[in-house]
Amino acid sequence: MSDLRHELRRAAELVADYRERLPAARVTPLASRAEVRGALDREVPGAPTPLAQVLDELVAAATPGLMASAGPRYFGFVVGGSLDAALIADVLTAGWDQNAYNGALSPAAIAVEDVAGRWLKELLGLPASASVGFVTGAQGANTVGLAAARWWVLQQAGWDVGRDGLFGAPPVRVLVGAERHGTIDRTLRLLGLGERAIEQVPALPNGAMNTDALAVALKREAGRPTIVCAQAGNVNTGACDNLVAVADAARAAKAWLHVDGAFGLWAAASPRTRHLVEGIERADSWACDGHKWLNVPYDSGYGICAHPDVHATALAYTAAYLTGQVAGREYGGGDFVAESSRRARGFATWAAIRSLGRSGVAELVESSCALARRFADRLRAIDGVSIANDVVLNQVLVCVGDEEMTNRVERSVQDDGTLWLGSTTWRGRRLLRISVSNWSTTEEDVDRCVEAIARAR
Ligand SMILES: *Cc1c(COP(=O)(O)O)cnc(C)c1O
Repeated sequence: MSDLRHELRRAAELVADYRERLPAARVTPLASRAEVRGALDREVPGAPTPLAQVLDELVAAATPGLMASAGPRYFGFVVGGSLDAALIADVLTAGWDQNAYNGALSPAAIAVEDVAGRWLKELLGLPASASVGFVTGAQGANTVGLAAARWWVLQQAGWDVGRDGLFGAPPVRVLVGAERHGTIDRTLRLLGLGERAIEQVPALPNGAMNTDALAVALKREAGRPTIVCAQAGNVNTGACDNLVAVADAARAAKAWLHVDGAFGLWAAASPRTRHLVEGIERADSWACDGHKWLNVPYDSGYGICAHPDVHATALAYTAAYLTGQVAGREYGGGDFVAESSRRARGFATWAAIRSLGRSGVAELVESSCALARRFADRLRAIDGVSIANDVVLNQVLVCVGDEEMTNRVERSVQDDGTLWLGSTTWRGRRLLRISVSNWSTTEEDVDRCVEAIARAR
């Protein structure tokens, strides 16, 4: 057997072993960043190292520092695991090593993105004619959506931002909720609109945008190039903006409507939660993640746009040497993202949806929500513990006491290792934060974790 075949098999065995151990594994790593670095840090090797030794060294040094975030008891940030089917497709993606820039570089990569994109739109209830860019995550997707928005609103004002840039352009206003995700601000910095383009719309107590305030703000200074940026799924509470009201107000103002639905957009995939994102199909662009709730391995996000021509005009580039870049061509791949050479991200998303089917995706969303409610119910039953949000989706905010107590419980839970959760400040209170986003989490996991949190107090 060749070295490669032997070591690939060994790598596959190691991955399978690792994943088989996840359900029972300690979640918090025992080794720190400094310890892992200490195990690997040395001068640049002067000469080649045999394959088996490269594998052994990496596994030995990295394993103690791995966070078991792919497993069932990791509830920090909003982090999905990876479905078995998506993982094996991702392994193939690495092995095939395709460049997903365009169909000339890899017909398979682009064709599978075409199909996976169509499936995504159907599951999320988005227009069939929308274009889908397979990006690194919702940060990338927000950048793509707001780049298209910037191009269009300025074009409506008679300004070609692609050609003339932003110096001298009519100022663009961006109306966005007070509880937006930080990636929106970064996107606006990167796009040259700057944070001062933001007109912050006040939030309701649950974190959703106050749509009455939005409507009033839009009537003021009507006629200026305007982008409205809504949110489906607040990272703290899970609340979704009232997208019907947002879309009505945005349409009346002839604004571009972008929706950051990194994880919340998946509410559309279940009949039980679809009402939370009613009106979603009326937006002009959407940001959604694959690596959060769909449980596709990193990096995976979708920048979706209702206007493929605007999408491609804002992002595509061309050059004489780029075979496949001919007039009248079908758009796809690199035309819809801010990258050039790119991993073939469609394979893993295709495999995730192929393995789950429509009912499996709905079940994934529903079970995460049910487990979040179970967390809330069981934690609330503990003396001195309360739940600080209305658990509408997969996010739970837990009050265990004052700031000092909360920070102490957080550290103690993390050190214990049964689960990993983080904390947040919400409405002036320090709270523990739980996000249920992993396909493999069970009721038993939740009950075990509730006990661990109770112990940590
Ligand atoms: C996670 C998240 C993002 C950023 O997504 P990445 O996948 O980390 O790039 C943006 N918006 C919301 C609401 C999120 O939850």
